[in-house]
Amino acid sequence: MSAYLHHHPGGAPLSAETQAQRDNDIRAAHTAQRTLATDPKARAISTAAHDLAIAAGDRTTRGQLCWLCEQRRACTRIAGRWECADCRHIT
Ligand SMILES: [Zn+2]
Repeated sequence: MSAYLHHHPGGAPLSAETQAQRDNDIRAAHTAQRTLATDPKARAISTAAHDLAIAAGDRTTRGQLCWLCEQRRACTRIAGRWECADCRHIT
């Protein structure tokens, strides 16, 4: 009996080789897409993570006056006072 029992209107069945070639092409396309998307995607994720952190109560806010170094920086509200990341690491 033939190996090709299925009905194939309009063309011969794909050989294993043809299928492998098609899969390789799809994989290559996906890889290219991923590479192109890496940077903007990473930025979008880090922005979303930052927003989530604020929403979750880790209230880092840009342009606040740090009470320790008295500079305007991205500070976190700690015990009612703004502290920048640098000063928080020192203490
Ligand atoms: Zn500071």
